[in-house]
Amino acid sequence: MHLPTLIVITLILNALLGLLMVVIYDLSKRKPCFLYWALSCLVFSLGIALASARVSINLPVVTYGLANLMLLAAPILAILGIRDFIGADAPLQMTRTRSLVLFLLASLLLGASYPDKAVFSAMTSLLMAGCFAIGALWIRQLPVRNTTPRLLLLTLYVAHTVVMLMLAGLSLSAAPEAGSGNRGWVYELVLASHILLTTGTAMLFPLLVYVATEQRLKRLANQDELTELFNRRAFFNLSDGLFNDSVRVGTDFSVLMVDLDYFKKVNDQWGHAVGDQCLQLAARTLQTQLREQDILARLGGEEFAVTLPGIDAQEAEDIAQRLCRCLAHKPLMVNGQAIQITASVGGIQRHNGHTNVQGMLVQADHALYSAKSKGRNKVIFHHPVQASGPTQGAPA
Ligand code: GH3
Ligand code: MG
Ligand code: MG
Repeated sequence: MHLPTLIVITLILNALLGLLMVVIYDLSKRKPCFLYWALSCLVFSLGIALASARVSINLPVVTYGLANLMLLAAPILAILGIRDFIGADAPLQMTRTRSLVLFLLASLLLGASYPDKAVFSAMTSLLMAGCFAIGALWIRQLPVRNTTPRLLLLTLYVAHTVVMLMLAGLSLSAAPEAGSGNRGWVYELVLASHILLTTGTAMLFPLLVYVATEQRLKRLANQDELTELFNRRAFFNLSDGLFNDSVRVGTDFSVLMVDLDYFKKVNDQWGHAVGDQCLQLAARTLQTQLREQDILARLGGEEFAVTLPGIDAQEAEDIAQRLCRCLAHKPLMVNGQAIQITASVGGIQRHNGHTNVQGMLVQADHALYSAKSKGRNKVIFHHPVQASGPTQGAPA
C-alpha cells in the first residue's frame, strides 16, 4: 500500500463526492442533509490535503492545527446531515447554534492540547471517535427499515469508532510517524482504514436517501393517507394472492364489504374534519378486531373491505356482527358529545363460481345494499347454500 497515492485518490474522490452532493442538494429542492454531507466531503478533502503538506511545509498551525480542525469538522457535518435526514423524530434537537457551540467547545479542547502534538492528535481522534459513536446511535433512527445500506452504514460507523480509538492510542504511544519505526505500518494501516471508511460512508449517504424515498413512495402507493389502512390497489393485490392460495389449497375464504351508515349526515352536522376523525376511528376499531393475516382496506369514501383467509361463511358472519357491534359502541367524542357511527356489512364466502376477489366483492356489495335497505346497522351474508355452489379447492 502506497499511502501518498491513497491520500491523493481519497482527496480527489471526496472532492468529487462533495460536488456530487451539491448537485443532488440542488436537485432535491435543497434538502439540507445533502449540503451537510457535501461540506463534510469537501472539508475532509481539504483537511487531508493540509495534513499531507506536513512533510513539505513547516507551518504547524496550518498543517496540524487547521488540518485537524477540518478533519474533526467532517464527521460532525456528516452526523448533522444524518440528524437532518431523520427529521422530526431525531433524538436531539441539534439546532445550528447548538452545533456551532459544540464545535467551538471541541475546538477549544483541541486548542488546549495543541502544544503537545501527540496529545493534540490523540484528542482529535478521540473527538472523532465520539462523533462516529453518536452517528452509529443516530443511524438506528433513520427512516429506512431493515435495508442493506442502513446496516452497512451502521457497520462502517461502528468500525470507524474503533479505528479512531486505535488511532488515538497510536498517537499517544510514542507518536509513531507514518512510515517510521516498527509500528509505522500499523499506523499507516489505521490511517488508510480511516480514509477508506470516510469515503465509503460518503458514498452510502445518497444511496440511503434513495432507498428511503423509494420506501416512502411505495408506502404512499399502497396506503390510504387518512386512515393509514391499505388502499384499493393494495387490497386487490394482496387479496388476490390470498384468494389464489385458498383455491390452490382448498381452504375457506370470505370477503366483507363495510359501509358506514348515514355518513353524509355526520359531515353535514359536524363538518368534514370531524367526519375524517370518524373515519380514522372506524378504521382503528375495525383493525383491532381482525387478525394479522386479514386484509383490511379503505376502498374509498366511507367504504371498507375485509378479506378473511381460512374463514367460512358462518365464522365470517360472526366476525361481521362483532365489527358492527364494536363500531356502534365506540362513538367519537367531540367537545363532550358522542358521535355514534354504525355500519352495514355485506359478506360472501368463496365458491367455485368465483374467479377473483373483484367478483366476490360485487356480490358482497349486493348483500351490503340488502343490509342498507333492511334498516342499516346489519349484516347480510350469502351463505354457500345461497350462493352458486359449495366451497371447493382447485381440481386435483
Ligand atoms: P348510507 O347509509 O346509504 O351509506 O348513507 P351515506 O350518507 O353514508 O352514504 P352516501 O354515499 O350518500 O354518502 C357518503 C358520504 O361519505 C358522502 C361524503 O361526504 C362522505 N365522505 C366520503 N369520503 C369522505 C372523506 O374522506 N372524509 C369525510 N369526512 N367524508 C367523506
Ligand atoms: Mg354510507
Ligand atoms: Mg358508501
